[in-house]
Amino acid sequence: MEIITVPCLSDNYAYLVKGPTGVTLIDAPEAAPIVAALDARGWQLSDLLITHHHHDHVGGVDALRERYGCTVTGPRAEAEKLPNLDRAVQGGDTFEAGGLDVQVIYVPGHTLGHVAFYLPSAGAVFTADSLMALGCGRIFEGTAPMMWDSLSKLAALPPQTTVYSGHEYTASNAKFALTVDPRNEALILRADAIAKARTEGRPTAACTLSEELATNPFLRPDSPAIRDLLGMKAASDAEVFAEIRARKDRF
Ligand SMILES: [Zn+2]
Repeated sequence: MEIITVPCLSDNYAYLVKGPTGVTLIDAPEAAPIVAALDARGWQLSDLLITHHHHDHVGGVDALRERYGCTVTGPRAEAEKLPNLDRAVQGGDTFEAGGLDVQVIYVPGHTLGHVAFYLPSAGAVFTADSLMALGCGRIFEGTAPMMWDSLSKLAALPPQTTVYSGHEYTASNAKFALTVDPRNEALILRADAIAKARTEGRPTAACTLSEELATNPFLRPDSPAIRDLLGMKAASDAEVFAEIRARKDRF
């Protein structure tokens, strides 16, 4: 089992997962860099999983299907906005891709049909624009309570799970995170590590869930320090989350 990060467009990531019987791609922002990454390894694409309908996640789907004849899977709730699906899925569904079991987690908020793909045997969850490294996706179609519910589902996965998100936004997410959680030692250390990784051109959009739980303010509305700073000691977690999200929108 091997996971390859493929930079696409200006700041998107696609991911290739080499399983025992095939290679699975999560999201297809554009075809060319994905074809190059497959060619470089002598791999063919067997499966393509789509998280949500935004063009910067599906722009390469038709070209890749044409080239490889791969099986295309995506959220049923967004099927009418997506390239043709061979397999339409919803939260709670399980299927096999490249010889690996895949669990579908429904994570609406950024879009109303957004799904994440959890591969337990790989210890990996592909979250695209739901839970992101030190952040979460902007809420375009859903509501803050809906996004909080989605993030809570992801937060309940095993803490050693690696979270692979869809964009290289981590450095700016770190700057914002420090405005709401400025004395969090783990966050300060992570922000330094991210700055170093970016000067070296390394991706930072993948991280363990345990590290996200310790540093990502969108997963920490129960933090006394964050509540204190926001003046929201008695609010619900969903209300604190909504305030953090609103501040990020203005950041
Ligand atoms: Zn999106």
